Amino acid sequence: MKTKKIVILGAGYGGLMTATRLQKAIGVNEAEIVLVNKNDYHYETTWLHEASAGTLHHDRVRYDIRSVIDSHKVGFIQDSVVEVKTSEKLVILENGEISYDYLVIALGGESETFGIQGLKEYAFSISNVNSARQIRGHIEYQFATYQTEVEKKDERLTIVVGGAGFTGIEFLGELANRIPELCKEYDVDFQKVRLICVEAAPTALPGFDPELVSYAVSHLEKKGVEFKIGTAIKECTPDGIIVAKGENETEEIKAGTVVWAAGVRGNAVIEKSGIEAMRGRVKVQPDLRAPGHDDIFVIGDSSLVINEEINRPYPPTAQIAMQQGEIVAKNLVSLIRNNPHLETFKPDIKGTVCSLGEDDAIGVVYGKKLVGTKASIMKKVIDNRALLMIGGPSLVLKKGKFKLL
Ligand code: FAD
Ligand code: NAD
Repeated sequence: MKTKKIVILGAGYGGLMTATRLQKAIGVNEAEIVLVNKNDYHYETTWLHEASAGTLHHDRVRYDIRSVIDSHKVGFIQDSVVEVKTSEKLVILENGEISYDYLVIALGGESETFGIQGLKEYAFSISNVNSARQIRGHIEYQFATYQTEVEKKDERLTIVVGGAGFTGIEFLGELANRIPELCKEYDVDFQKVRLICVEAAPTALPGFDPELVSYAVSHLEKKGVEFKIGTAIKECTPDGIIVAKGENETEEIKAGTVVWAAGVRGNAVIEKSGIEAMRGRVKVQPDLRAPGHDDIFVIGDSSLVINEEINRPYPPTAQIAMQQGEIVAKNLVSLIRNNPHLETFKPDIKGTVCSLGEDDAIGVVYGKKLVGTKASIMKKVIDNRALLMIGGPSLVLKKGKFKLL
């Protein structure tokens, strides 16, 4: 019988977890496995706020994909996926095409701009290594340029962060630590810098424990962050943002930097391929296959799993993407061994920890609330655990976070 070909698209948390679990579970000739990714490196998406603020070098957040895959079992192709032709079982790449028997789509998410005018053109988003480098470079450029101006434009030193979800808050935590360093580096008066967070909902971190939210907001405010809560961004312009004020009025906030951190949608490849989706996310079946496509699994930020207890989707997280990768690897092993019984996916949410800079955090872990140093240490333990699960102890030693205080 012909060996089955498994193609995994994306080497993020979900894709790499699938590939590394599969390579452990199957024999060399049991299946042909191919992993496709845009870059030859994996990046820790969950650390990108640090690279964007400039508190962690971007090389610290990435590692060579080949260092964690077994080349005897998994072939690697560096290319960009353009589209999946599902009826032909074919993936179209920028530089070629590849056929599959089973496909895993783990291409992550994209920034959701909700059609708000000007965001795509004038705002940055924390999406990958390239965008993180661009944000860091842009902010430094604003500080450097400010000093060269005869008529100084103070708004150059205003940074707006759109959205006080976990991404926005974690980025603000890093920025709040980085700004005093930048002021020193570029001889800029700290009082001239404004760090503004604009959040549409009536609270920061909507849905999270109110006591922890209040800890986060007050600690960030002490470091100089201004919160505009209950304020929706309506437009982004080359000069800043326009926000809603009252029923019919708007207000302009001039800013040299706008970072949009107000939500994610699924990868555009999903919709381009005609796979049924809601905002680019596929509402997967319990075994993580796409409805109507028994040969395609979708995991991570491009998938949507409903939390039956509250009848709402689980928030897309690395925690879920990795757990899905483990289940998909098991299900693929079953399929290639002609075992029709596939496992169903049930997220095991161990908790959520949100950093507020290198030395502070808030979180709930196994139902227990944590703040400050304890939460910050826990966050680093979680970061290291992701490395351990994919690359083992050697990857933790190479890339792990050990400065605990
Ligand atoms: P990703 O890990 O994003 O990987 C997608 C991969 O696909 C990438 O390697 C990308 O290069 C590749 N790719 C994309 N498009 C193409 C293409 N067309 N062709 C080829 N390759 C492509 N979650 C948590 O659980 N805990 C946290 O603490 C946490 N912190 C976060 C902090 C930040 C700043 C952000 C932005 C997110 C955070 N998240 C966190 C959410 C988490 O990062 C995502 O849910 C997770 O990365 C999703 O994993 P994934 O495998 O779906 O995609
Ligand atoms: P999110 O959707 O969780 O939060 C976006 C925020 O933007 C919301 O609070 C929303 O009210 C606000 N918003 C939306 N439209 C707006 C507008 N027009 N103007 C102002 N504010 C607006 O998105 P996120 O923070 O990017 O998180 C994405 C996913 O990644 C989530 O699932 C999150 O749980 C996960 N994540 C987890 C962590 C962690 O566990 N530490 C860190 C970062 C991200």
